[in-house]
Amino acid sequence: MSLRTAEIAGGGIGGLATAALLARDGWRVRVHERGEQIREIGAGIYIKNNSIEVLERLGVFERLKPHGLQLHKAEIRFADGSLRQQRTLAGLSRVHVFARQTLIEGLRDAALAAGAEIITNSTVTEAVNGRAIRTADGRTHEADLIVAADGVGSAVRNSLPMRSSFRILPTIIDRFLIEGREFTPEDKTVEHWSGNRRIGVTPAGPNQTYVYMVAPERDAIARQLPLDVRDWSERFPKLAGLMAALGRAPSTQFNYGVVDCEKWAMGRVAILGDAAHGLPPTLGQGAGLTLINAYALAHFLRQTQDVPAAVAQWEQRVRFISDRTQAWACRYDWFTRQWPTRLDAMRPLITWAFGRIRYLNESMRIADQGLRLAGIDMQRG
Ligand SMILES: Cc1cc2nc3c(=O)[nH]c(=O)nc-3n(C[C@H](O)[C@H](O)[C@H](O)COP(=O)(O)OP(=O)(O)OC[C@H]3O[C@@H](n4cnc5c(N)ncnc54)[C@H](O)[C@@H]3O)c2cc1C
Repeated sequence: MSLRTAEIAGGGIGGLATAALLARDGWRVRVHERGEQIREIGAGIYIKNNSIEVLERLGVFERLKPHGLQLHKAEIRFADGSLRQQRTLAGLSRVHVFARQTLIEGLRDAALAAGAEIITNSTVTEAVNGRAIRTADGRTHEADLIVAADGVGSAVRNSLPMRSSFRILPTIIDRFLIEGREFTPEDKTVEHWSGNRRIGVTPAGPNQTYVYMVAPERDAIARQLPLDVRDWSERFPKLAGLMAALGRAPSTQFNYGVVDCEKWAMGRVAILGDAAHGLPPTLGQGAGLTLINAYALAHFLRQTQDVPAAVAQWEQRVRFISDRTQAWACRYDWFTRQWPTRLDAMRPLITWAFGRIRYLNESMRIADQGLRLAGIDMQRG
């Protein structure tokens, strides 16, 4: 077999995982990252069973594990402290939480160890004739495979002749990563709800806590940073101590967004990760989908030398998992953001139904099952 080459736009979770997987299969791989370094923001990330299976196959998980934390339970509580939903996190629902930087460094090291080249300060501007990418320095890089893993605003995807868009949703999220476990003594994640605001609190490692705060964009007080400690504490009286600590902590604010991408496969070009299926983070599955899709891409490329055929088959076989998850993530966002106050009394019933009715829960969490849904046995490769 001749040496196959791949040029990858984006050194995030998707680009680095793909680089590691392909390089392990003997491809010559180059990753272009526009940033000065491989870097993530200061926040935590939920890594679910599907992601863990890929990280295990990459040999990354065992090394990462001591730096993160395995959760045993997930709860939803209303602001008065009442428990509204509880799930045990085991088997296909197993979840670990890491600091994002820990995860990205693990993937970077795996890609480098497998022989991939990573070039930082290298911005990709477009795909050229479906066979190459162009970088901001004017150079053209040809390859057998082009991977657009350059995130929601993907320059590569936008340069291709197909319908695609990135829409900002009117929901904001603030994320904090703070030292210590004062507010997270148990190995569980709790999401607290008050009207249309939510606060997620989870341990993110042996000695770190990850907090996210979500609110509709129209909520001007919730949008403020540094956060309005008094207002948030009034809405979540049980979390007043945590709010005081967060008032002094650095944070980042984002809007939720969603990517519609007509095709993931165009000849030798594969659109991967958020560039293909960016979704609201309501189910904590963006990276999970990205990792299983990277794994599946390498899997189909292993079956044949015909790169366009492998890329087409990849989209055909695995895309439905991401499409369905994206649709549920958007519904979840709508439900928590737009649910009318006059129907508040019905909320506990709906929350209960999603927790208890197996069909609804499994349908919403389809991605937890990973690539077995697409008939790919990860034990066999
Ligand atoms: C608030 C929030 C919380 C989330 N929480 C979770 C969670 O708990 N669990 C989970 O599984 N997922 C979560 N996600 C989703 C997850 O972060 C993403 O799905 C994942 O990061 C996608 O990886 P990616 O590599 O496709 O894209 P990105 O992470 O966006 O990486 C793209 C990379 O490409 C680089 N780049 C961009 N443009 C160019 C260019 N033109 N040239 C070169 N490089 C370029 C960027 O600098 C970046 O490094 C969350 C997302 C958000 C917004």
